[in-house]
Amino acid sequence: MYKVAIAGAGAMGGRIGVALKQAGYNVTLIDNWKEHVYNINTYGLEVETEEAVTSVNIPAILAKDVTMKFDVIIVLTKAMESESMLEKLQEAGCIGNDTRIVSMMNGLGHEERLSKIVPLSKIYLAVTMWTAGLKGPGQLLLEGTGSIDIQRADRKKDLFTEDILKMFNDAGLNAKASDDVFKSIWSKATVNSVLNPLCTILDKNIFEFGNYEKSREMIIPIIDEIITVAAAKDIDLNRKELLEKIEATYSKATQGLHYPSMHQDYSNGRLTEIDYLNGQIVSYGESLGLTTPANKIITHLIHQLETKIR
Ligand code: NAD
Repeated sequence: MYKVAIAGAGAMGGRIGVALKQAGYNVTLIDNWKEHVYNINTYGLEVETEEAVTSVNIPAILAKDVTMKFDVIIVLTKAMESESMLEKLQEAGCIGNDTRIVSMMNGLGHEERLSKIVPLSKIYLAVTMWTAGLKGPGQLLLEGTGSIDIQRADRKKDLFTEDILKMFNDAGLNAKASDDVFKSIWSKATVNSVLNPLCTILDKNIFEFGNYEKSREMIIPIIDEIITVAAAKDIDLNRKELLEKIEATYSKATQGLHYPSMHQDYSNGRLTEIDYLNGQIVSYGESLGLTTPANKIITHLIHQLETKIR
């Protein structure tokens, strides 16, 4: 049986870790938050769902203390913490020649950063529609259902992809192999590049943002720049499909009453993933000779807000 680590065991890492553990897999949670790790090891990871509050026994360890080697490391830090987390794990000898890294974070360019540590053939990119929340250290809030699409970062097929699909599906995580995970990642990143920063800057939930009759005029320049940058990288995005995806979230019956994760991070005094969304579009644009003024101003606006936190 594979030895699995969840590197970054916050809300989403906790969700995936608990599902795998409950399906009988050998899972260790790795995190930098002392109180979280202490509570998990002392009281179990508290899991609140629509039905019940339970406690799951699952080993957790601080990243600075980990020494064992893993077969699979699922990365669910925030995007800006992934490189330092993996560097720490590499120094500690946790990453062997056969260790596979599964990136399930939101945002763009993870394959480029992670390939500084392991070759692309050992990196698997996953995009997930599951959601999760943290009520406090050692306390998960899990609602709704989701899915996971996964593909090797060099787009080649292999047996490990089958193994990880089996593992995720044994854990009820509704996973499937993707033929074009980059398109799914870029589509999700486009939705996030619109709703996350705009709701944060405006201090609105998704319904309130969508309720403004000219919201489409605000969205289109952001989307069009992303489509142009994506096309230059051979990723084919469709404006109509993206607009439909974004506008489908406005209803109070779907995600309308939610504040996007960036709003929650900013409100809780934490830095945001802006540099891996709109900011990544700006830097790809610069390296491709494409201007991305709408995404640039959005990135600056969020950085301006973050000066209060830094
Ligand atoms: P998270 O903030 O819950 O956890 C990320 C890291 O931050 C963890 O190491 C966690 O321990 C730490 N952390 C959280 N609160 C802390 C606090 N108060 N003090 C100290 N450390 C703290 O992030 P997440 O929601 O699990 O997101 C991880 C990745 O998954 C991100 O790239 C995110 O965009 C993506 N993602 C999240 C969801 C979701 O619904 N949560 C859904 C899809 C993708």
